[in-house]
Amino acid sequence: MTIFHKIIRREIPADIVYEDEHLIAFRDIGPQAPVHVLFVPKQDYATLNDVPEDAPEIIGRLALAAARYAKAQGFDKDGYRIVMNCNEHGGQTVYQIHLHLLAGAPLGRFGTPA
Ligand code: 5GP
Repeated sequence: MTIFHKIIRREIPADIVYEDEHLIAFRDIGPQAPVHVLFVPKQDYATLNDVPEDAPEIIGRLALAAARYAKAQGFDKDGYRIVMNCNEHGGQTVYQIHLHLLAGAPLGRFGTPA
């Protein structure tokens, strides 16, 4: 079980901004932009590699929930970034898939090797 499962179960606190039967969204504890929210499905998949080909809705729901949140908060026109890190080279540290929403200021370039 990951820290995100504990947040879903309300075993540890988080600043939850959205929840439905499929997913939960809460503020990242170490924000890397003025707005940094994590969108996490309630189904268990460690990485994007583990999502079955016949279940694209899992990823679609995360992306559309992030877009909806950005629109509701007024970030849609100025723009925002969504990111999914996968495994070591992608910088993944929590092994329950999640999508980052970063917004609230112009974001720097990304993808430079560490
Ligand atoms: P990853 O590096 O796996 O793509 O992203 C994991 C994210 O989870 C990081 O940005 C990290 O700051 C965040 N995080 C780790 N532990 C916690 C926690 O206990 N609560 C919250 N809200 N975010 C966390």
